[in-house]
Amino acid sequence: MPKIVVVGAGVSGLTCALLLAKQGHAVTVVAKHMPGDYDIEYTSPWAGANMLPMASEKDSRWERRTWPVLQRLAAEVPEAGLHFQTARVLRRAVDLDAISRLGDGLFERNPWYRTLMPNYRELPASELPAGVHSGCEFTSVCINTAVYLPWLVGQCAAQGVRFQRATLKHVAEAAAMHHLGGKADAVVNATGLLACRLGGVMDSKVYPIRGQIVLVRNEAAGLMPTVSGCDDGEDELIYIMQRALGGGTILGGTYTKGSWEPNPDPNIAVRIMKRAVETLPELTGGKGIEGLNVARHGVGLRPGREGGVRIEKEVIDGVSVVHNYGHAGWGYQGSWGCAERAVELVEEVVSEQAKAKL
Ligand code: FAD
Repeated sequence: MPKIVVVGAGVSGLTCALLLAKQGHAVTVVAKHMPGDYDIEYTSPWAGANMLPMASEKDSRWERRTWPVLQRLAAEVPEAGLHFQTARVLRRAVDLDAISRLGDGLFERNPWYRTLMPNYRELPASELPAGVHSGCEFTSVCINTAVYLPWLVGQCAAQGVRFQRATLKHVAEAAAMHHLGGKADAVVNATGLLACRLGGVMDSKVYPIRGQIVLVRNEAAGLMPTVSGCDDGEDELIYIMQRALGGGTILGGTYTKGSWEPNPDPNIAVRIMKRAVETLPELTGGKGIEGLNVARHGVGLRPGREGGVRIEKEVIDGVSVVHNYGHAGWGYQGSWGCAERAVELVEEVVSEQAKAKL
């Protein structure tokens, strides 16, 4: 049985560990942070999270391969913490040039995902708010990350995966940390944003994309609206999503490239809440921002990467490493597709090693 060490217990590492274990590998997960922790260095707990496809058609593999799994979990596995919600994507008239210039997959008109996401429909003019050029709706999911991450841990444990808390200085150290002893056959590097600081990797293309959110107890009535822009600044966003199983509603947000600031900014928080009640007045029954019942303010750092996600193999100090990091704002909605590719690469590594031994 091949011995694999996965470094990282965010959504990327846990999904890889689960798929590897299901394919018959003996897996140890080593991580500085585990589900249950809230830390600025650990992105996954801070995500909304929902599925709003944002890749270009060319790079859509990760989301295309992930959607069927998320759909099945929402339909058949209530304890995983996902539920179906209606996504509503609104394209403001003033943002149309920027959408086509930036090739923004989510807000494109006639997007590739119209054939992937169930119940896709373009909104008629009668359903569009003032200033909005066009929009669409489709069935998606919202994931309660506080339930889903521990659920992944439980699924891994049931497959025999072992967990160890440790902070690595160098990625090659992981090869000596397998629970069965000896040298691991391969290491999966799923360290997210911290791939920029991990010895042997030190990826200077990785940078934080700061996301501030407000978690409220109000409910969003099955609707997840998002808007292509707002008048409060280029790095401010509008999105709303209600988490499954009483997880509250996430109001977002911001998308500030290069900022490591871990503390919520109260001025930004007020703007986020104002935009949310303007976009979805039903949140507070028309009572405005005063009607919001705040559970928590939060900040997470998305793992951005120039050139996009890194899923590839490399030998570092004699250790075979498969990288899976740099998922920016789509780590959940691409998680199963990316993990599937990482597992393919691990299997290539293992079979190359077996051939070399013959
Ligand atoms: P992380 O969750 O950061 O995990 C990294 C792991 O590596 C941790 O366990 C850490 O301890 C470990 N590690 C790192 N360095 C070391 C080391 N040296 N030694 C040991 N362990 C180490 N995505 C979506 O798909 N949909 C959404 O709606 C969505 N909304 C978001 C909203 C916000 C506000 C934010 C911040 C993100 C959002 N995202 C969303 C993006 C998503 O959260 C990330 O892409 C994803 O969580 C990245 O997961 P990861 O496992 O790669 O990294």
